[in-house]
Amino acid sequence: MTTNPTATFDDALPEALRFHSPAPLVDIGANLTHESFARDLEAVIQRARAANVTTMILTGTDQAHAEQAVSLAHRYPDLYATAGIHPHDASQWNAGLERAMRDLHQEPKVVAVGECGLDFNRNFSSPADQERAFEAQLGLAVESGLPLFIHERDAGRRMLEILRAWRDDIEQAVIHCFTGDRETLYGYLDLDLHIGLTGWLCDERRGHHLRERVGEIPLSRLMVETDCPYLLPRNLPAKLKGRRHEPALLPWIVREIAHWRGITETELATATTATARAFFRLPATVYLAEDS
Ligand SMILES: [Zn+2]
Repeated sequence: MTTNPTATFDDALPEALRFHSPAPLVDIGANLTHESFARDLEAVIQRARAANVTTMILTGTDQAHAEQAVSLAHRYPDLYATAGIHPHDASQWNAGLERAMRDLHQEPKVVAVGECGLDFNRNFSSPADQERAFEAQLGLAVESGLPLFIHERDAGRRMLEILRAWRDDIEQAVIHCFTGDRETLYGYLDLDLHIGLTGWLCDERRGHHLRERVGEIPLSRLMVETDCPYLLPRNLPAKLKGRRHEPALLPWIVREIAHWRGITETELATATTATARAFFRLPATVYLAEDS
């Protein structure tokens, strides 16, 4: 037992990894309903606040996880949720799921339809099933007026065709964890879409091509995310036991993106936070850890 509850929450992050962002950050993709967070979620949220990650959007990838994300968002003022069916699970799409998603999209703390999209890298669901579920969710986005949180892996060309056909009807959309090539990026920007960048770019083995692209994304379209517990950045100055990524590490990703863009971390944090607040229509008041 400890008398000071804040004394323990940094224990799981080595001193060298604690990094308070110079300006508040929004993590637009945090899978905090992942089982790896079940044991210490409260501490994970406290560490994020201590790092100046003041808002987290929890990714809802199927019905169960979306419902969990919504109930967490009800418990914490700085958490919001998305609700959708990930392309991996697209083969499960049916009328019942569609109804459940439609209901979730009415919840005040649900700020986007998704994660939905196309993943032709793994094809856990067939491409035909993926397209069917994705187009149904595009329809739900039109109905609700919510922005879209989109996953695309190795499916840029088809994604562009589909989005071109829907563009006039949907509001905004973000391609989260963008990893594609220059042509795909420009295709998305031409459609006036937003881009989410993760720690992928901190990976010297496979993030190289992205580093040249970072400066080409207008700040008004760029947002940042951990996609935790996945994609632990490879630029961290210390080893992390368990290798689980978490929102408190977002400032390290921002540092890397700012470096390749040639601007300060403060400028990048301020701009991406303003972009995320407008995109997800978050309330103007920023949660301040110092106030608690
Ligand atoms: Zn994804």
